This record gives sequence, structure tokens and C-alpha cells, in this order.
Amino acid sequence: MFAEAEKVIPGGVNSPVRAFKGVGGTPIFVKEAKGAYLYDEDGNRLIDYINSWGPMILGHAHEPVVNAVIEKAKKGTSFGMPTEIETKIAELAVSMVPNIDKIRFVNSGTEACMSAVRLARGYTGKDKIIKFAGCYHGHSDSFLIQAGSGASTFGTPNSPGVTKGTAKDTLLAQYNNIDNVKALIEANKGKIACIIIEPVAGNMGCIPPKEGFLQGLRTLCDENDMLLIFDEVMTGFRLAKGGAQELYGINADIVCFGKVIGGGLPVGAFAARNEIMNYLAPLGPVYQAGTLSGNPLAMAAGLAMLTELNTNPEVFKRLEDKTAYLHEGIAKVLTENSITHTINRVGSMISVHFDEADVVDFDTAAKGNNDTFKKFFHGMLNAGVYIAPSAFETWFITDALSYEDLDFTIEAVKKVATAL
Ligand code: PMP
Repeated sequence: MFAEAEKVIPGGVNSPVRAFKGVGGTPIFVKEAKGAYLYDEDGNRLIDYINSWGPMILGHAHEPVVNAVIEKAKKGTSFGMPTEIETKIAELAVSMVPNIDKIRFVNSGTEACMSAVRLARGYTGKDKIIKFAGCYHGHSDSFLIQAGSGASTFGTPNSPGVTKGTAKDTLLAQYNNIDNVKALIEANKGKIACIIIEPVAGNMGCIPPKEGFLQGLRTLCDENDMLLIFDEVMTGFRLAKGGAQELYGINADIVCFGKVIGGGLPVGAFAARNEIMNYLAPLGPVYQAGTLSGNPLAMAAGLAMLTELNTNPEVFKRLEDKTAYLHEGIAKVLTENSITHTINRVGSMISVHFDEADVVDFDTAAKGNNDTFKKFFHGMLNAGVYIAPSAFETWFITDALSYEDLDFTIEAVKKVATAL
């Protein structure tokens, strides 16, 4: 199947990190998925720790989500006109997330972040932005400067095709280094519209913000008339009902969402307080649009998903407990087998780095032993456990995982660790 795909799709995939280039071999082709499991076209069952890179918090083919999509599809799949369900999901999202009054739906995380930055530039009247090395905010031009995720896996963090004119307005800072951010602001006084950050980085493995770091950014933004943008494409509706803003008690000015908010359908969104959101067309001068934005199938899936997270907030505690159990189990096995490692975890986001130094930014993430990672990845796959095919990615835990599944995974780590 991969050979056939390669003939008609560049690299055989529609998004680079799927290609297994970082770990060697050829990608798994999925036939179907249910709960915590993927079934591939060769008939193997795999425990899934990617979960579509985050959104499957409640597991694959979750019945309320599937049913909502089926029922909606029977009534038409796109109109390019307003529908009531868009207001319903907007009301719910606004009630769950701190510090936002209005939300606009788009079709991907890329669009959400791209639009958020345009809005920040329009609102502040300034051009430059600060982003952090190793953070990924989608593939729009301004962000393909030392981006994480696939861009790091393939060693092409700065993409040809991004003009020098665009690149010069993106200032790069080191994650978790507030002095570095201060120096950039000092050197570009009055020119910076916003700071955009993954409040928990998930695209260079999982990296938590150091104590005080997010608060430091908040203060710097307030002092310098800059907006703080939290890219919560991974963390939103996962780390808590209200995402990282709630978890860390920090208010962002604009929040970006993706993936989760569509229950696995192609959705993104960005949200802010009234005075910022009212700057968007048709109310304000900043233009942003989309034929399929607010698509009824995507809204139906998203509404089913958010409703369940909102009415069962104990999901977040269960996710935390399951991930902590996995963390402890893997750490114990790797230590017993004298395998150098660092495990980072926040809530249900976790990653295993094969290096003993603390992993706090892109440079320390890049120090991990990639040969060990490759062997680990393929060993786990052979044992029936699918983790992301790159050391620069995070594992996402789903509530569909049972403790037997977690024990199965820890056993798999044991087999691989012994072989390593
Ligand atoms: N922001 C973050 C934090 C992401 O992890 C991603 C995708 N992994 C994006 C933005 C881009 O989202 P999408 O792939 O839906 O365009």
C-alpha cells in the first residue's frame, strides 16, 4: 500500500511525520480503530498512544461522537451558511475556557494559529512576533522558523519558500528562558505584537513550563503592550476543562485550539475577550474566513466531545492517574535495565527521552539518543504498542485505555529494554 501511495502522494503521506523517516521502515496503514486500539491493514492490533496526535481523549470511534456525525450527515454536510449548532458549541467552549468571550471556528490548528497572529498584529498595530524554538504552531509561513514536530524530525526547521521578509518578523526565543525573551523585547522595543507559545510544549517531546515562566511572559506582555497567545491545540480540553490557562492559573489574550475541539474531525478555533475578537471581520478590520468553517459534521462531533468532557470532569483525573501509572511503570523498567532516560509528563501528555539531563528546551530535547529511540520505537511496535515515530513527539493518553492495557505497555517496555 505504501509503494502505491508513494506513486501518487509525495512521500506516500499527507503529513510528513507519518512517513517513519525519523525511525526508518514504512508507515502502518490503519484499517480501523476502536477505543484504545488501532487495527492495521496486516491484521495487527496496536495499543494507540498517538490518538490522532491528541484529540481521541475518549477513544476511537467513541459512540456519542460517531452517532452525532451520522445523524448530522443525513441532513446535509455543508452549507456555507450559519447553523444553530455553531452557537451551541461556541457557548459551551466559552463556558469551559477561562477569559474568553467569543470564539471563531476554522478547519485546523494551522489556521487557528495563523489567524490568531494576524489578529494580534492587527489589534496592536505591530509586526513582529516571538515564538519559541521547538514549538510548532502549524505550517503557515511565520511559524516555520525553528519549528518542532516533523520539521525537527526531518532536520528542516527553516523551510525554503518562506521569504526573508516573513522570516525577519519572527523572533526566536529559547523555551523556559525568560531572560532571553526580555532581551528580544529590549532589542525590538515597540515592534512586537505578541508572544505565541505552547504553554506545555508537545512538539519537542513533552516539556513543561518552568515555575514562573508563563507568569513571566504574562507580565512582559502587560508591560510592553503585547498579546500573549497560548497555542492550546494539544493542551486545550486535555489538561483540564479550561486547558493550560486553568491548570496554571494564567490568562492568555488569545487562545488557539485544534483537534480536540472537533472530536477528531478537521476543526480548529481561536478565542479571546470581546475587545480583541470584535476586531475580526465582519465586525472589525482584520480579515479571516473559511467556506467549511463551522462545518456541521465537525461541529456535531465537537459538541458531542465537549459535552462529555464538560459533564464528566472526572475524565481529567482518570487521565492523570493512568498517565502517572504508566510513567512510574516505564521509569522503573528503564532504570532496572540501566537505560539512560528522562521522562517528562504533564497530565495526560508524556514523553520518554533517552538522555539523563533535564529536558527543558529544544537544545536539551535534541540531545536525546536517536539510535536508542529508533530501536525503542520498533521494539514497541513489534510488541503491539504504537508510539509516535519521532522522539520529538508526545504520547497522548486516552481514557479508553484500561489498566490491563497500561500493564501490557509496561511489559512491552520490559521486553524492549532487555533487548536494548
Ligand atoms: N499547534 C500545535 C501545538 C500543534 O501541535 C499542531 C499540530 N500538531 C498545530 C498547531 C497545527 O495543527 P494542524 O495540524 O491541525 O494544522
